[in-house]
Amino acid sequence: MLTIPKSDKKRIVIAGCGFAGLKLARDLKNSGFQVVMIDKYNYHQFQPLFYQVAIAGLEPSAISFPLRKIFQGFEDYFIRIAEVTAIHPEEKRIDTTLGGLDYDYLVLAYGADTSYFGMENVRKNSFPMKSLNEAVNLRNRILQNFEDVLSVQTEEEKEPYMNIVIVGGGPSGVELSGALAEMRKYILPKDYPELDCEKINIYLIEATGRVLNGMSEYSSIKAKDYLRDILQVKTLLNTSVKNYENGYVTTSDGNRIHSNLVIWTAGIKIKKIEGLNDEDYGPANRLIVDQFNKINGYENIFALGDIAIMQSENFPKGHPQVAQVAIQQADNLAINFSNIAKGAQLSGFKYRNLGSMATIGRNLAVVDLPQFSFSGFSAWLFWMFIHLMAIVGVKNRLLIFINWLWNYATYDQSLRLIINPQKKK
Ligand SMILES: Cc1cc2nc3c(=O)[nH]c(=O)nc-3n(C[C@H](O)[C@H](O)[C@H](O)COP(=O)(O)OP(=O)(O)OC[C@H]3O[C@@H](n4cnc5c(N)ncnc54)[C@H](O)[C@@H]3O)c2cc1C
Repeated sequence: MLTIPKSDKKRIVIAGCGFAGLKLARDLKNSGFQVVMIDKYNYHQFQPLFYQVAIAGLEPSAISFPLRKIFQGFEDYFIRIAEVTAIHPEEKRIDTTLGGLDYDYLVLAYGADTSYFGMENVRKNSFPMKSLNEAVNLRNRILQNFEDVLSVQTEEEKEPYMNIVIVGGGPSGVELSGALAEMRKYILPKDYPELDCEKINIYLIEATGRVLNGMSEYSSIKAKDYLRDILQVKTLLNTSVKNYENGYVTTSDGNRIHSNLVIWTAGIKIKKIEGLNDEDYGPANRLIVDQFNKINGYENIFALGDIAIMQSENFPKGHPQVAQVAIQQADNLAINFSNIAKGAQLSGFKYRNLGSMATIGRNLAVVDLPQFSFSGFSAWLFWMFIHLMAIVGVKNRLLIFINWLWNYATYDQSLRLIINPQKKK
């Protein structure tokens, strides 16, 4: 069993300290509950800026924050670094990689994983970007790619290094391809003068007819124009990847791209957890919850954020899997825990769409607010401000701001280190 001190208070166990879990735990301060947080990492990660770590624009530590530091001084709060592996609802107990743990209330907020839509070759050979580890791995791979190309002689041998393929035209794919295009323009020619950087091709492959499919048509069109016309990203729409094997990406129109570096940002899926029933899961394995985020059929198990699907008249397919939904659901559940403690009625969740945005490059971004959309320099400033404000920790905020200022003024970043942790011999 996991050793957590006994308390007179009811125990809330939160599985996953991403946007939803972290917000809920913070909101529950002084709520009269004992709070146990379980996460497989000892830090909270800010996923929207993974791509900047991947292109060596930010240090990993600037976008992650140690959980123990966030919760210093919180009374009757406990953190355990472990994975939740199973739930035993009748016994009100979970299994973790560190042992079992009893709960009075369980909140599942363990987020989504990468989906390769069953394409095993793609999973084995491409690079995902769904965790900080993967973003650092990608940074190493991108930098190593340009080191490797210097060791080959002929144009034919160089080809797979000179084709970088990004799959998925959502915000991650768009932001990453734009950032790589700027790296090709401003940084690589200085770092690799022997390399003809104009011959580096950046492909963005998107299965639907538009990039940023979750945003307004205006933003999709603007983003596509920025990518194609200003940043020279080869944007292939209505095209899906069918295979990636032996260094070749095969697309739905039968074309093949020779590439050693394929970055996969195309899909997410929810892992099923042992102990819940098949009927608890809806489309894409999201856990079906009622308006209070309670998993249907259980009195004391809740699900928040990416893993939850709350179907309603306004959102028949559930809410979008974005940070704001996770945060707002956490806020509402914290209010409901206080209602539970008081024996008051629970309040149903209502999503307030605050808008969405994506940055494509220097001075280039798109923003959709509920009332209107805008793009260009003002959108880019707006994007930076919102992201800075969302970062946990004043020091991280400052670090990122200084980094961004520096990068903007110098057209450069100075974090291009290939760091592969060495195993002890
Ligand atoms: C690259 C990228 C860019 C994104 N950009 C944006 C953006 O610009 N704007 C936006 O709104 N959204 C963006 N998103 C989506 C957004 O990050 C998610 O919607 C949001 O993180 C969901 O919050 P969550 O709390 O449900 O899950 P997460 O934030 O994913 O948190 C899940 C937590 O659970 C932990 N965990 C996982 N499995 C277990 C387990 N078995 N046991 C214990 N702990 C576990 C993880 O370590 C993690 O800390 C992006 C996502 C990615 C991957």
